[in-house]
Amino acid sequence: MSEDCIFCKIVKGDIPSKKVYEDEELIAFHDIRPIAPVHFMIVPKEHVAGLNDCRPEHRDLLGRILLLAPKLAAEQGLKGFRTMINTGREGGQEVFHLHVHVFGGGSTLPKT
Ligand code: 5GP
Ligand code: ZN
Repeated sequence: MSEDCIFCKIVKGDIPSKKVYEDEELIAFHDIRPIAPVHFMIVPKEHVAGLNDCRPEHRDLLGRILLLAPKLAAEQGLKGFRTMINTGREGGQEVFHLHVHVFGGGSTLPKT
């Protein structure tokens, strides 16, 4: 738990979110500013600032997040989806609590 972290507050329930999944380790909720018709994030409950702060002990956690993505995407009606992990300010990260974006639906996503 990090005092000023918005995602820690969501994990604690202090800030409301549109939840799509929760277990003892992970939570997933819709992005407040979606960039696609379906756009949610998978977030570990443990406060890890980002991918730069992940260590070998986070291997299972990272694996669980990626394995959960297709399951939740299918539940949200997506036949295909895109994942994104922004890392560091120069990588476009705004919230410094690790999260994997999952989004898709509607028109074709631009090629990257
Ligand atoms: P980042 O740029 O760090 O990868 O993504 C952070 C994401 O969190 C942004 O897409 C932003 O819209 C989303 N976000 C920021 N604050 C909140 C919030 O209070 N609730 C929800 N559901 N999403 C948020
Ligand atoms: Zn946090």
